[in-house]
Amino acid sequence: MSQSDDCLFCKIIAGEIPSTKVYEDDTVYAFKDIAPKAKVHVLIVPRKHYANAAELAKADPKTLAHIVEVAQHIADDAFHGAYRLVFNTGEDAGQTVFHVHAHVLTGQKFEE
Ligand code: IMP
Repeated sequence: MSQSDDCLFCKIIAGEIPSTKVYEDDTVYAFKDIAPKAKVHVLIVPRKHYANAAELAKADPKTLAHIVEVAQHIADDAFHGAYRLVFNTGEDAGQTVFHVHAHVLTGQKFEE
């Protein structure tokens, strides 16, 4: 599936809802989280719609690997390559938007 009509992140990728772009290429779009949980909090999403990380891994593992590369580049710029990468998967894990997204948390030291 490439676009889901009711999907917030599909609308952000399409430019129908504003976002602060951090990076983009043919396969992914990265933008600032609206409610940052770290000094730098970026969401990286594949342009194609997959509900979660497991679906993406099964359908398109190259894009999943690419998301990790992009996270590394963002953290190289923001905080000497140190970062946390989180995929909330499932409602009970705190996933609220069902278009897979990697949370890149960086720009600061984490204690634990
Ligand atoms: P989840 O809880 O892992 O699904 O993450 C969804 C994330 O999307 C949360 O961290 C929200 O703060 C973020 N978010 C929701 N709406 C927007 C928006 O319009 N722009 C940027 N980030 C958003």
